[in-house]
Amino acid sequence: MAKQLQAIRGMNDLLPEQTAVWHYLEVIVRRVLSSTGYREIRLPIVESTELFKRSIGEVTDIVEKEMYTFEDRNGDSLTLRPEGTAGCVRAAQQHSLLQNQSQRLWYYGPMFRHERPQKGRYRQFYQIGVETFGMAGPDIDAELIMMTARLWRELGILDHVSLQLNSLGTSEDRKKYRAALVEYLSNHLDALDEDSRRRLDSNPLRILDSKNPNTQALLENAPILEEYLDEESQAHFARLRAILDEAGISYVVNSRLVRGLDYYGKTVFEWVTDQLGAQGTVCAGGRYDALVEQLGGKPVPAVGFAMGIERLILMLETLDVIPADVHAQADAYMVVLGDESSSYALGLAEQLRVALPSLRLVVNCGGGSFKSQMKKVARSSAAVALIIGEDEVKERRVGVKSQQDDAPQQTLNIEETITLLSARLA
Ligand code: ATP
Ligand code: MG
Repeated sequence: MAKQLQAIRGMNDLLPEQTAVWHYLEVIVRRVLSSTGYREIRLPIVESTELFKRSIGEVTDIVEKEMYTFEDRNGDSLTLRPEGTAGCVRAAQQHSLLQNQSQRLWYYGPMFRHERPQKGRYRQFYQIGVETFGMAGPDIDAELIMMTARLWRELGILDHVSLQLNSLGTSEDRKKYRAALVEYLSNHLDALDEDSRRRLDSNPLRILDSKNPNTQALLENAPILEEYLDEESQAHFARLRAILDEAGISYVVNSRLVRGLDYYGKTVFEWVTDQLGAQGTVCAGGRYDALVEQLGGKPVPAVGFAMGIERLILMLETLDVIPADVHAQADAYMVVLGDESSSYALGLAEQLRVALPSLRLVVNCGGGSFKSQMKKVARSSAAVALIIGEDEVKERRVGVKSQQDDAPQQTLNIEETITLLSARLA
């Protein structure tokens, strides 16, 4: 026998049982986004490698070791997108969406990072990302955070996530802070892990979110970024906190929250949970006022976030908050008895679907005994079995048997069947 091929490590198949849950989540997210005025943008999965190097930053985990980069047949260096912000900014600029106007955009799709696969961490994973452009104030930062809080409430997970908040100030602020941090850490080189030592020159702020316990201990007494913020950043951060306070959204200010990408400034935030072990961040984002200019445009203020869909699904499963009916395959299942009945059955099913566009109706194909077909009815979770035997074909009628109570089977004409199903759907 030929060897069976397997999916690439860290890249998951989503089977129908799982896509049912994904659809449930996607419908709610889309509704929350459109109710707040956000519009979808669809972007390519592949971009030029340079785009990511210039936006995410050369000295970041993503660019240093996680990207899927390859040469295409023309010899151009391309990369499977590791995140969506860079491509979104590229597209918004390319299509002049940023000239004297504000934008509220979102996108959805797979991202690719060559990381060590584990629970909540994959090499192909899905994000829903939200990016806004042209709005500089803390009001839009607050809108994004309030919108996500509403999403968590609708999904039934609000009590199990907490909001971490920080301000990274301006690049001037970070330059001053960086000098102070480097000075402090240079005096404790022996306590620094290897990665952090390497970053001391290239990207010392990244050391703040080192997972190494010795480094973490050392950081307890390190200078704090907050003390280096200029007046404007301080006021922006204070106003954001005031809006969140008034909205009743609790948060923790985490002065070591820096995020893994270089383009952030001022507001950064993460929604974290203790339900998923080490992979606890379900949604993360912040302000990136410098990025549009960095990618060759006029300066445009921007703020956004991305949420990891696999981690959210894992949370829904762990907390057991997925409604049972998301797995129901059909509202009605048609049992077809006798070889001659299928032409009537299939035509009737089409007629019912046309009359009731939201009806989910599965027709038994491939024959089988009454008993075996009734087992399929049960497996489909249909509320109603429609039974077509030789008598029904002759009389142009439908046998209807409720699966939710013991009411006896009825024989109805087509109009009556439509009325009954339509009442069931409502
Ligand atoms: P982490 O600290 O967990 O590595 P990150 O800071 O790299 O996350 P972002 O780049 O901000 O993550 O991406 C936003 C969200 O996308 C994360 O909060 C997480 O929910 C999800 N995510 C990131 N990387 C992965 C991955 N490899 N597999 C699954 N989800 C991921
Ligand atoms: Mg990461």
